[in-house]
Amino acid sequence: MNFECVIIGGGPAGLTAATYLGRFRRKVLVIDAGDSRALQIPESHNYPGFAEGISGPDLLRELRRQAEQYGADMLQGTAEDMLRDGDGYALKVGRRTMRAPRVLLATGLIDISPAMPGVRQAVAQTSIRYCPVCDAYEATDKAIAVYGSIEDAEPKAAFMRTYSDRVTLLPTDSEIDPRAAERLAAIGVTLAPSAPRDLPPVDDGICATLQDCEELRFDVLYPVLGCDVRAGLVSALGARCNDVGCVVDDDKQRTTVANIYAAGDVVSDLHQLSVAAGHAAIAATAIHKSLPNNFRG
Ligand SMILES: Cc1cc2nc3c(=O)[nH]c(=O)nc-3n(C[C@H](O)[C@H](O)[C@H](O)COP(=O)(O)OP(=O)(O)OC[C@H]3O[C@@H](n4cnc5c(N)ncnc54)[C@H](O)[C@@H]3O)c2cc1C
Repeated sequence: MNFECVIIGGGPAGLTAATYLGRFRRKVLVIDAGDSRALQIPESHNYPGFAEGISGPDLLRELRRQAEQYGADMLQGTAEDMLRDGDGYALKVGRRTMRAPRVLLATGLIDISPAMPGVRQAVAQTSIRYCPVCDAYEATDKAIAVYGSIEDAEPKAAFMRTYSDRVTLLPTDSEIDPRAAERLAAIGVTLAPSAPRDLPPVDDGICATLQDCEELRFDVLYPVLGCDVRAGLVSALGARCNDVGCVVDDDKQRTTVANIYAAGDVVSDLHQLSVAAGHAAIAATAIHKSLPNNFRG
């Protein structure tokens, strides 16, 4: 099966690129394994144009409908392998092989969640949130926990002070530097005296049990535990990635491997719907211009 571009990943980045490429009259395939981060968004209030908010599943459904309207083919499945095929690439999905001279990687990332039961449900109920830029506004004046190593969680805790004067850093560190408590107190953040030994979701939030059995209740918890960037298909071909694992690209979303572009969370460290859409527009336009002309008539 031959296409002008295969897009790996049918989240906001991949679907937006598919719409652009479809409107450039290119033959495009989106391969999608179906676990977009956007599926976890209960309601986004920072995506431009939706003043009343929009849920991630609703947004994905509309993006997909739009891409299909312009002729994008969709294939549900996982691209397991990508091999060089002349100047282009051959992608394996189960027993099928898809070929294209251009590939757009839009595979996103997976947040590392706290080891606790019921994480998905807690995310749906907004007692666990991952992205302060996305939704800290919705946590205004709430009791907020930021959970991670002091080094990683401190900047996020400071960011949360814009929204609440009840911010606690729940450390994962086994030993706590006493200077950290002073530093955090200076910006109005409380440092819990120990790492929590238990962190169950409760009806209206999260209950952290510390080592001495003290219980702390929070309305919302922001984990800062890192992420797994799904860049394996291109890193196996030698693409450069940064220290977080995100693909390094240029101002046209080109990776360091010829004819492979990247967009969305797999690239950026500002992991946002609007950034994914912006990357996709840039990548799709560059891909169209790089392909042989498709003049009409
Ligand atoms: C709880 C939560 C709330 C959020 N709220 C907001 C918000 O309010 N505003 C905002 O701007 N952002 C928000 N975000 C972030 C937003 O969801 C992401 O920035 C956005 O989804 C990134 O889009 P993407 O297309 O790059 O990746 P994704 O949406 O993650 O899509 C990647 C797709 O690629 C597929 N895939 C991966 N590997 C393969 C493979 N090998 N073969 C085939 N398919 C593959 C996956 O299955 C997935 O469907 C939130 C995220 C979370 C988790």
